[in-house]
Formats: sequence, C-alpha cells, structure tokens
Amino acid sequence: YDDRDGYIWMDGKLVPWRDANVHVLTHALHYASSVFEGERCYNGKIFLGRKHSERLLFSGRELDMEIPYTVDQIEEAKYATLKANNLTDAYVRAVAWRGAGEDMGVSSAKNPVRMAVACWEWGAYYGDSKFKGAKLDISKWKRPSPETIPVHAKAAGLYMICTASKHVAESKGCSDSLFMDYRGYVAEATGANIFFVKDGEVHTPLADCFLNGLTRQTVIGMLKDKGITVHERHIEPGEMESFQQCWLTGTAAEVTPVGQIGDYTFEVGELTKEIATDYEKLVRS
Ligand code: PMP
Repeated sequence: YDDRDGYIWMDGKLVPWRDANVHVLTHALHYASSVFEGERCYNGKIFLGRKHSERLLFSGRELDMEIPYTVDQIEEAKYATLKANNLTDAYVRAVAWRGAGEDMGVSSAKNPVRMAVACWEWGAYYGDSKFKGAKLDISKWKRPSPETIPVHAKAAGLYMICTASKHVAESKGCSDSLFMDYRGYVAEATGANIFFVKDGEVHTPLADCFLNGLTRQTVIGMLKDKGITVHERHIEPGEMESFQQCWLTGTAAEVTPVGQIGDYTFEVGELTKEIATDYEKLVRS
C-alpha cells in the first residue's frame, strides 16, 4: 500500500502518498502505542463518521494519549483526504500514534502524538462470501479479560492475535477466525462482530470484553425495529450446533453471511439476506 499515487493527511496537511513515512524509532512501532479507525464512505458521506472520530479520541485516552484534534477537525481531515484522492466510495483509515521523540523506553509522555488519514477503494471484505457464506476457523487465542487490557479501545495491540489467527485461518482455506473469550464464550472475529439466528430470534455475544462495533449496534437497532427479539448474552461454543444462521458485522465486513465455523454449518437464510440488504440501503440513504 505504500507505493501509490494520491495523498495522505498527516499531522494537519496533505502529503503525497509515498512521502507519508515515519521514523523506525517511532514509539508505536515498538510498543503498540497506536489507535485507529476503519470507516466507509458511501456516495460521498462517511457512515457514522462522527461516531468513529469520537471512538478514535476515546481509544487514544484509553492509552493515555490525548489526540490533539477535535471531532470537527478529524471530520474535516477525513473529507479533505477523500477529496484529494477524488473518492466518494472508499474505506477511510484514521490512525493516531506516539511518534519518535525524546523517549525510546516504555514511557513516551514527551513524544508527540501524531495522526494520519488515508483512504482507498475497498470492495467486499470477504470477497464472494457475501453471497455464499464465509468459512471461519476457530482461533487458539482468546479475547482477553477487560482487567488485562483496554478491550473497548480500537488499539493496535489488540490486533496482534488477530493477524496471527487470520494467517492460520487463511492457511486452512478459511476467510477469518472466530475468537472465544477468556471465559470460553463466543466473542468475535478478527475484525468483525458475530450474530446467530435460532428459530427467528437473534443471539449475539454480550460485548463485555471486545469492541462493541458501530455496525453491531446499528444492526441490533435494525433488528429491534423489525420487532425481532435480540438476545445479547454469553454464548457457549457448543450452542453453535443449534444455530441456523450466522453473520458477521463490521465497517469493512458490512453484513457478511457465515456458512461454516469449524465443524458447525449455517444456511445463508432469509433474515441474513434481509439484514444484509437493509444495511446496504441504510448506509447509502
Ligand atoms: N471487532 C473488531 C476486532 C474490529 O476490528 C471491528 C472493526 N472495527 C469490529 C469488531 C466491528 O466494529 P465496527 O462495526 O465499529 O467497524
């Protein structure tokens, strides 16, 4: 992704894509002092843009990192980047991190907090599984306890086991990996939340130790508006045997049907298709 034409917003100004670089002694590179957002722009409008900017600032504060921009300034930066790259339908990545500076130890209070925004075209996150149902592996790693790490921040450090799990999944011909949490309950995929359907009702893990995705919250609202019962609760892995449908939600993933998780199989059923279609309509409305 580094060798392209275009512009990236960096610390307040647009710079040519290839010049948006950092030093190797960047604190974030060594200690994961980095937070980010993944957003999608549809027809020139970023879906829930302000909520993403608010979450970015929240994530920063969770890492004792005050990002030196307001929500309005971040919104401006995102739209300026889209415009500079002539994009109206794109994925938008905002990232903030501790830069290089006075400290190279764990403490970095004197190092500058830096920020960048990049955007690019990005189609379906799981390729053609949007229609036939993605296949998921089950990770050997667990989503950690909220007492061990700020689990509600969208922070780089939480993705270390995501990348490792996804590589294993891909080597087995799967699109993604599902995590259980530290107690053994079903948690989330490496970059998306999960929903199940059983006898017309929806079950989704309680977001008490992982990212309560904005798409997850949107989809729960959509289901409730339709009068469908949604159970946010702890789900035992063995329960997957009795679930008929399954889908993932996320900004990049949107609503992606799941056909298989380990040995459990699901149909791409009516409710899954309906929610995927309704979500597509909503983000473009
Ligand atoms: N969980 C993880 C680990 C993620 O990376 C994402 C994507 N940001 C989600 C869930 C879904 O969050 P959202 O719907 O806000 O994109």
